[in-house]
Amino acid sequence: MPVKAPKQNKTATATVAAPAPAAHVSTERPNPWKVALQQLKQVTDLLGYDDGAATMLATPRKCLSVSVPVRMDDGRVEVFSGHRVQHSTTRGPAKGGIRFHPDVTLDEVKALAMWMTWKCSVMNLPYGGGKGGITCEPKAMSSGELERLTRRYTSEILPIIGPEKDIPAPDVNTNAQTMAWIMDTFSVNKGYTVPGVVTGKPIQIGGSLGRDKATARGLMYTVLYALKHLDMPTGGLRVAIQGYGNAGYWAAKLLHELDFKIIACSTSKGGIFVDRGFDPEAVNEHYQKSGAVVGFKGADTITNEELLELDCDILLPCALEGQITQHNAARIKARIVGEGANGPTTPEADAILHENDQFVIPDILANAGGVTVSYFEWVQSLQNYFWSERDVNLRLRELMERAFEAVWKIREQRRCNSRIAAYVLGVGRVAEAHRLRGLYP
Ligand code: GLU
Repeated sequence: MPVKAPKQNKTATATVAAPAPAAHVSTERPNPWKVALQQLKQVTDLLGYDDGAATMLATPRKCLSVSVPVRMDDGRVEVFSGHRVQHSTTRGPAKGGIRFHPDVTLDEVKALAMWMTWKCSVMNLPYGGGKGGITCEPKAMSSGELERLTRRYTSEILPIIGPEKDIPAPDVNTNAQTMAWIMDTFSVNKGYTVPGVVTGKPIQIGGSLGRDKATARGLMYTVLYALKHLDMPTGGLRVAIQGYGNAGYWAAKLLHELDFKIIACSTSKGGIFVDRGFDPEAVNEHYQKSGAVVGFKGADTITNEELLELDCDILLPCALEGQITQHNAARIKARIVGEGANGPTTPEADAILHENDQFVIPDILANAGGVTVSYFEWVQSLQNYFWSERDVNLRLRELMERAFEAVWKIREQRRCNSRIAAYVLGVGRVAEAHRLRGLYP
């Protein structure tokens, strides 16, 4: 028996009401760097790597922490703290987004950079992994303040980024406009335009068609492959989505177009639940106008914790890390958990979900569509030759399918959970690249 057969392929009942508040949920988020190291250790132990090899894989190549002074609109100077971490450059330049969030810490950025390394490797992209972040509350800042913050941060990390070294992209609370400011600041300092220094740029200055929806499109493909492999029908399945940013909103929209029933979504201000399902675009209009999904007409209000425990077939955590832990994993009802976010599930929770025959599409596979189309954008920028959206989507599908099938095969061969399988693939490729390149001097 290669893999544990699912206990049942049931689809959720359509009569559930929003559950009572989950008072037992711990609000303490696990340290993401500890989680990332724990996930890696499980696999370096499994693969029998010696201490030197394991330490090499666990240690970021470069961490740069910078102070970012910004003149605020009221004339005061505020000093923000920012980081850029290059976890690996063994398979190619570091690659990964930049996030603006009050909870950003160096440990979080280190974890996110490590996850980028395994993600790029699982997808077989010629990249290492990196990540950046600034501790700030972007929702309380004006566009001018955000521009000055972005430009000063860019100039502080300028010595270590570049199309051959480290290529930033959007992440939580950053977008195409942020990338345009980074590209411009870098280019002005170099004296010529360097579109390949970032991905996720506006189309007008060298961005790629399809990049905005790429994370969600990749997530949708992996959900469809999972349903196929688990012999589940697709018609009318109930989907709950935590987070309604770039990944969450587009995932809702794409799955809704395929006749999935989107029953819940959320932002940091709380979530909504509509038993019969809702139109993601109408909720987005409400969100754009009011700044929250809560208050959408006809919807029950739920918390982010309650959303995770809803009776649904597919749960897509598309917000922040550390959401599914040993405290709530046993109450997750979804048959498939597709990780649009980075690091939403802890190793303890992974074990519980696996034990309960729930299928997790791990982040380093599930949300890899974004960085995959970033790779396509970088190639287009370097060649100054641009592809049609159809080409972008076809190539994305091909790479997602290849990676999904490779992970599924390892999962069957090793009878392990899907995250371990993805790590065996991703970490294994990086270790092999270390071995081939050797150690200098
Ligand atoms: N921030 C995205 C991620 O976590 C995209 C990174 C990129 O495109 O480089 O995968």
